[in-house]
Amino acid sequence: MGYFKKVLIANRGEIARRIIRTCNKEGIQTVAVYSEADAEAPYVSEATEAVCIGPAQAKKSYLDIEKVIQVAKETHADAIHPGYGFLSENPEFVRRCEEENIVFIGPTAETIHIMGSKLEARTQMQKAGVRVVPGTDKSIESVDEALLIANDLGYPLMLKASAGGGGIGMQLVQNDAELIKVFDATKQQATSFFKDGTVFLEKWISKPRHIEVQIVADTYGNVLHLFERECSVQRRNQKVIEESPSPFLNDTLRKELLDAAIRGVKQIDYTNVGTMEFIFDENQNFYFLEMNTRLQVEHPVTEEITGLDLVELQLKIAAKEKLTITQEEINKTGHAIECRLYAEDPNTFFPSPGVISRLKLPENDVRFDFGIIEGSAVTPFYDPMIGKIIVHGITREQAIEKMQRVLDEIDIQGVKTNLMLLKQIMKNNQFIRGNYTTQFLAENKIQVLEG
Ligand code: ADP
Ligand code: ADP
Ligand code: MG
Repeated sequence: MGYFKKVLIANRGEIARRIIRTCNKEGIQTVAVYSEADAEAPYVSEATEAVCIGPAQAKKSYLDIEKVIQVAKETHADAIHPGYGFLSENPEFVRRCEEENIVFIGPTAETIHIMGSKLEARTQMQKAGVRVVPGTDKSIESVDEALLIANDLGYPLMLKASAGGGGIGMQLVQNDAELIKVFDATKQQATSFFKDGTVFLEKWISKPRHIEVQIVADTYGNVLHLFERECSVQRRNQKVIEESPSPFLNDTLRKELLDAAIRGVKQIDYTNVGTMEFIFDENQNFYFLEMNTRLQVEHPVTEEITGLDLVELQLKIAAKEKLTITQEEINKTGHAIECRLYAEDPNTFFPSPGVISRLKLPENDVRFDFGIIEGSAVTPFYDPMIGKIIVHGITREQAIEKMQRVLDEIDIQGVKTNLMLLKQIMKNNQFIRGNYTTQFLAENKIQVLEG
């Protein structure tokens, strides 16, 4: 198989622009697909060709497998990049691509299927000798069964949808009464969001830190890690700020973590890029949480410290090229931080759609991965992320200082955003000391003026 001539991007917004950038660099043509709500979006005009695939609702456009396949065939695309979210972790979509002889830029349908189930993933990781969060390895069918297991494990516990994602479908429960209260609702939410009502229980890890490992694997059995990302600044179990390296890890602990991640992906013969997510407790024990079988929102921090282009690696691996770098050749330099700018109320974290009437971004020494420009709208139909701000410094201190300066220079108007919150975090002593857990935002109760 040769390298691709034309890649269809089955996604929108900042990640579509990100993929177009690498395709341009590689001399690959691009096909953008867009919904009626995105007709004016920058990625649509930046692609070589663009095709409207339906109305605003994702179900009728970005999630319509047959529509996307049809456009790929009509435009003679030889590969599809799914981005993140939408169809990126959908085994049925991967199978349809295979049937039509279109290369899916990602892992196999089988691995996506296995790792898409948090329960099956737990089983596989234990086989590989990777410690998982203490919990059950089977689906819980009834409240009575849940209560028995819960009392065996001991509270606090996390009730989780096996097929969950994006922080949706999980509930922290402190006692029997709370478990009884949320069990049916969580199961129902899992069914409606993920078409799979399977739920299970996991110990809630106290003072948790979320640290994940970026993996790259070709189709010849070469598996590499690109170090870790610290993603503990979260709201609603979803990341807001990510950095690499993690201020929490020493070299011994880092090596243990990276080794575990590599063991885990070798177990499932993983290919392409992927992320092994772990949770650390206060005693530096770490447990496997889940795997994301796709490019991650926060991949830029890894690119900044390694100098590698993850989308380029994805394209080459999918084109059956061998990895030409070795683990020893991958070095990390300095420190990178990413802030996610959301159109949301900074106190309630509810989305705040609308037109971005003003957007002025500073130009020096900063990377912006944004899906929109001044005058664009954030619609209620999709994720309210406006864009990502990424800085790199020689030290963590320098990266924080840069981020403080950049955030101060951003001028955005028209919708409520979390910009003030990001600024406050960058000036928070606990954050500056690197001494924070996933409870950081909840504990600090940072009150933000609207803006
Ligand atoms: P990451 O794990 O890469 O940090 P997120 O958890 O923030 O990513 O999710 C990536 C994107 O995919 C976000 O836009 C999020 O809203 C969306 N997403 C993730 N999982 C789902 C899902 N199961 N259903 C709908 N959207 C999802
Ligand atoms: P998703 O598929 O939605 O990304 P994850 O299992 O990766 O779900 O969990 C998302 C976040 O929820 C984690 O980063 C962490 O902050 C929190 N979380 C999940 N499981 C636990 C747990 N057992 N203990 C403490 N926090 C947890
Ligand atoms: Mg996760």
